[in-house]
Amino acid sequence: MIQDERLTLGIDIDGTLADTVGLVLELYNSEHKFQASKEDLKLYEMAKNLPEIDGGKVKEYFENSWDRWNEIAPVDNAASDVIRKLAELYNIRIITATFGDTGNVKRWLEHNEIVYNDFVHCDSSEKYKYCDILVDDRVSCINAVAEHGGRGILMEQYWNKADPTEEINENVVIAKNWNHVYDICINGLDIASNEY
Ligand SMILES: [Mg+2]
Repeated sequence: MIQDERLTLGIDIDGTLADTVGLVLELYNSEHKFQASKEDLKLYEMAKNLPEIDGGKVKEYFENSWDRWNEIAPVDNAASDVIRKLAELYNIRIITATFGDTGNVKRWLEHNEIVYNDFVHCDSSEKYKYCDILVDDRVSCINAVAEHGGRGILMEQYWNKADPTEEINENVVIAKNWNHVYDICINGLDIASNEY
């Protein structure tokens, strides 16, 4: 059997490829007086940002959103083309701890033309074990990769820009969007660029 010598590029789903949060907020807003927007999400733990909600309810909103997978928009329309190009060089592994039904998540990936070699569902704390490089919107996942000698690329979102409870490892690179991820992977760009 021929071994795949390529590095594995791990890619998260919620908040990195799929704008699940957009639909979750719609569901939240339909049941609450407080009308939340993404700008209100300063902390990764959604329940800590919004009134009258707990972690269990957040999980329920995520599950319900994935049941409506065809209403979930991509985080960045460029992701499909960028990942297709990266797949020529890397083993592409979807690595997710999503609350969504796996069948629906895979339907969404196919519908949005995201190519990948394999799919791992694991706890957030274990993602670093399955990749050499990880693109993710959760600081703790990215930090773990950097701490274990891998490359961590944080997809910038409101909930990870300035969360005081999550200090970003100095080796982590922050990506503005998927074209920026491409340049980080291919051109070794490791500083914030105004072009994005
Ligand atoms: Mg995520």
